[in-house]
Amino acid sequence: MLPRMERTFIAIKPDGVQRGLISEIVSRFERKGYKLVAIKLVVPSKQFAEKHYHDLKERPFFNGLCDFLSSGPVLAMVWEGEGVIKYGRKLIGATDPSKSEPGTIRGDLAVVVGRNIIHGSDGPETAKDEIALWFQPKELVSYTSNEEKWIYGVN
Ligand code: GDP
Ligand code: MG
Repeated sequence: MLPRMERTFIAIKPDGVQRGLISEIVSRFERKGYKLVAIKLVVPSKQFAEKHYHDLKERPFFNGLCDFLSSGPVLAMVWEGEGVIKYGRKLIGATDPSKSEPGTIRGDLAVVVGRNIIHGSDGPETAKDEIALWFQPKELVSYTSNEEKWIYGVN
């Protein structure tokens, strides 16, 4: 991995998968210049969803949120790039799609907060924890992308 590279956990939630938005969302990260290092389609159990969202367990929507995340296939991914944790959140847009800017994934493709189609880690610590929760180390693929020298201007 080049210096200053980061990895973040991105997931397309069951609504995004069911609505046929996988390729649209993946292509936004791909075209930006980030590198896909892990991807799998999984139906998380309710208990797994509760682990993923453990920070929110006091919130009134926690139960419904975990029911929803475990209701169908989720596309779990790890994306790598310089600044990908913070900028990935920018690409995703505000939590409530009614407040997300147009041009963002939620701004362009979702309407309500309970069905906002995508998850992205909110900081370096969460990214580390979420990647470890969803993927085994051997599922993360390290490789050199031929585009890297054009994206970063280094060899
Ligand atoms: P995120 O990091 O932008 O996804 O937002 P949070 O970590 O604050 O919340 C996690 C997820 O919980 C969001 O993506 C929403 O799907 C859901 N959520 C957050 N706030 C609300 C709310 O007020 N009502 C409902 N129904 N769901 C919410
Ligand atoms: Mg969050």
